[in-house]
Amino acid sequence: MYIPNNLIVKKIDDDEYLLINNISGNIDIANEEVALALKDSNMDKLYEIEDKIISTLKDRNYILDTYDGYEKFYNSMYNEVTNEIEKQSPYIFNIVKLNENNTITTDLVDKVLTLSEKIANEDQYGNYEKRIYRLTYESLFLDEDIDVLKYIIDKLKSKNERLEIVCNDNINDTAIILLGNNYQHIACVQIAIDAAKILNSTSNQDNPLKVIDDLLLKKLEVNLKINFDVNSINNIDEINDFIKKMDWKNNGSFFVTLARSKNLYSDLELKETKFLEKLEPLFFKDKSANTTYRVADIELLAHLHRSIKGQQSPLISYPLFSFSEATDGRQFIFTPSGQIYTNENVVGINELSIGNLDNELQIDLEKYYEWKHRKTINMAKCKECEIQLFCGGGEPLDSYTLYKNIHEPACSNRKSIINEYIETLIDKGEI
Ligand code: SF4
Repeated sequence: MYIPNNLIVKKIDDDEYLLINNISGNIDIANEEVALALKDSNMDKLYEIEDKIISTLKDRNYILDTYDGYEKFYNSMYNEVTNEIEKQSPYIFNIVKLNENNTITTDLVDKVLTLSEKIANEDQYGNYEKRIYRLTYESLFLDEDIDVLKYIIDKLKSKNERLEIVCNDNINDTAIILLGNNYQHIACVQIAIDAAKILNSTSNQDNPLKVIDDLLLKKLEVNLKINFDVNSINNIDEINDFIKKMDWKNNGSFFVTLARSKNLYSDLELKETKFLEKLEPLFFKDKSANTTYRVADIELLAHLHRSIKGQQSPLISYPLFSFSEATDGRQFIFTPSGQIYTNENVVGINELSIGNLDNELQIDLEKYYEWKHRKTINMAKCKECEIQLFCGGGEPLDSYTLYKNIHEPACSNRKSIINEYIETLIDKGEI
C-alpha cells in the first residue's frame, strides 16, 4: 500500500482529527488511530485497522495500492482539472496601457485582433471556446484614448465579441457615453479604487464613485474592485455601510470585488490571513443583502474556507495545479510597445515576455510553453507539498525575483498561512 506524504492531518479533539486530501480535495474527520497511521505513513499501524475503514480510506484516495497507483490518480486528477478549466474558461486578450506616455494605437489593436484570431484557432495555444477582450488602463484615462476605444468597440462589434474595460474612477464622461451607446458590446466595466480613497470620501461627503451611478444608468455591468491595505482593512465595515447606502446594491448589474492592494513587500502589505479574518463577518452579515461580493487575490484561503464551511457541494475542492490563467496558457497581455506577456505581474520584464508584435505575428512557442508548463505536476517540490491544493506553485514573479527561474517554487509564507488558518478554524470550533 502507498500513503501520499502530503496529506494534511490536524488534531481537532482528543480522538478526532481533520484530514485533507491534497490531491482530490476530500476533507474528512478520522479517529486518532487512523489519522496517526496516515500521518506517519505507518504501514504496521495501518494493517491493524479494520478492513472496512481501510476500504473507505482507499475510496477517498488517502491510501493507494501502489506508488504507480498514486501517480495514476494524480495524473487523472490533473487531466480532469485541466479539461474542466478548458471547458469553462475563456482566452483573455488584454491590451494594457501602462502610463500616460504609452499610446494604444489602432495599428496595435489590428495586430492584437489578428494574432488573437490565430491563437484561438490553433490547438497549440489551447482549446478554449470563449474569448474575453480586455482594455486595461493602469494610467489615467485621457481624451486621446477615446478614439481608440471607439475603434476597438467597432472592430469587436463586427466580430460579435464583447469588450471588458478595466480602469480607475477617473474614466471621463465622453467615454461613459460611448460605452453606454454600445452597452450590448461591453461585457463589464471594472472600476478599481483603493479603500483608503472611499474612506476619505465618506468623511468629506464627497463621492468619488459617482461614475458608478453614471455607468449603471447606461445599462452597463459594473464591477467595483476595492483594494485594501493593512490600514484600510480595519475599516471594512465603514466601506460596507457606504456601499449599502448607495442605490447600487440592488442592481443586478453591480458587484463588488474585494482584493488586497498590490503593495507586496512594503509596510502596507496585508496578509491573507488578516484579510480573510476581516472579510468573514462581512459575508455572514450580508447574507440578506443583494450586493454580490467576490473575493480576489486570496485563492489559498478562500478555497479552504469554502470547502471547510461546506459551501461547495460535494465537499471537493479541486487542487490548484496551476497558479492562475497566466500559467493555464490562456491569457495574452499586449503592451503599447508591442511586447506580449501571459502574466500581468511581469509586464515590463522583457526577459519574461513571450513575443513581440513588431515581428511576424507569432508567439515564441518555447517561451509560451515555459509558462504553460509551470504547473505543480512539473514542479517536483510542489507535487509533494501538503498545501499544493491551495497554492498551485505560487506567484511566478516571486520565483523569478528570487531564483531567476519561474519554475522554481517560491513558497513565501504559504505553508505557515495555511497551517495557521486551519488551526484558527479548529480553535474557533468551526471544524
Ligand atoms: S510553491 Fe511552495 S508552498 Fe506552494 S505548492 Fe509549491 S512547494 Fe508548496
